[in-house]
Amino acid sequence: MLFKDLNLIEPIKKALETEGYTNPTAIQSKAIPSLLKGMDLLGCAQTGTGKTAAFAIPILQGISLQQKGSGERRQIRALIVAPTRELAIQIEDSFRTYGKNLNLKTLVIYGGVSQNPQTKDLTNGVDILVATPGRLLDLINQRYISLKNVKYFVLDEADLMLDMGMLKDVRRIITYLPKERQTMFFSATMPAEIEKLANSILKNPIKVMVTPLSSTVEIIEQKVYYVDKVNKVKLLIHLLKNKDIISALIFSRTKHGADKIVKLLKRVGINAEAIHGNKSQNARQLALNNFKNRKARILVATDIAARGIDIEKLSHVINFDLPEVPETYVHRIGRTGRASHGGIAIAFCSHEEKPLLKNIQKLISKLIEEVKDHPYPLLDTNIEKKPSNVKRYKMKTKR
Ligand code: AMP
Repeated sequence: MLFKDLNLIEPIKKALETEGYTNPTAIQSKAIPSLLKGMDLLGCAQTGTGKTAAFAIPILQGISLQQKGSGERRQIRALIVAPTRELAIQIEDSFRTYGKNLNLKTLVIYGGVSQNPQTKDLTNGVDILVATPGRLLDLINQRYISLKNVKYFVLDEADLMLDMGMLKDVRRIITYLPKERQTMFFSATMPAEIEKLANSILKNPIKVMVTPLSSTVEIIEQKVYYVDKVNKVKLLIHLLKNKDIISALIFSRTKHGADKIVKLLKRVGINAEAIHGNKSQNARQLALNNFKNRKARILVATDIAARGIDIEKLSHVINFDLPEVPETYVHRIGRTGRASHGGIAIAFCSHEEKPLLKNIQKLISKLIEEVKDHPYPLLDTNIEKKPSNVKRYKMKTKR
């Protein structure tokens, strides 16, 4: 199938041509025809499948066809809610790209920055609003935003919203929406609570499942290094000396851990930046842009800050810590291997993390190749925490 078979209006076709897109991705060819007919959609898909264009194109086309004249006051006709600021920015960017030949105004709003520029833009009129839940509710409460004219509602990365404790806010937002609307609901996974939410807001949705998981996993070269926790930074520094690592996204389990890795890398002259929830929005965006523009070679991130971020031709993903949830590993390594480019995913595994590695290998149904030849092999495989040690530690902390 080609984009030209999808009944798209000329300005959108032209924008896609400019982007060099000729063939719709699986989710696009499955979703766009039904969405153009006004149906609701339940999409089980993650970033990297082309899902943003799958909902952005029909929304742009729908609003553009309903547009009456240039004198008409702009009202929010489409609302897209996404869990993280980075994701929201990326989505708005896609709307701008695909809608660049249309006369529509888009705006992205998120917390952590002053609301004044956002409220000024809102007052001037917006057709398509992309928002994170907290700031959206805040501005609804301050009456800068009315959702009563929304015709298209997208909830993106719903399972991440659940993980981030945002579902209460999302349910509140839904109460402000008109009952008569088209709803598109996306989630990479479908835990029970997410399924319940989807069932409560969708009407006879078409269901589209796209699982790039196995194909993504197949084109990515995966390796594991067994290494003691105390030696992980040394091993990282050793690996980063290899100039084949053109760009590396490093995952740390905690915000504190991410900052510590950056500090230790900088100490040996390796320039790195961190993104996580404790950084200001501007600092996060700057770090991300520097990384995307290849000004910075290394980005250290926590899962929540990095989820959904689209980085073209990322050569390496390094799991400095293994994630507790095995699916997270697949999401992480999916940052590389985009658009069939291939990529290398490295995992560091300490003795304590071996059960986590086992669960990951079970999920992806394969054994990750071990790299044995490295300067920091695992030493403490048989060290058990002796009760006497625990006691001494407890006494020390009492004092
Ligand atoms: P998404 O899953 O929406 O984050 O999209 C992942 C990446 O695929 C983005 O960089 C898009 O620009 C790109 N993309 C989306 N649709 C297509 C397409 N039909 N052909 C080529 N690239 C695409």
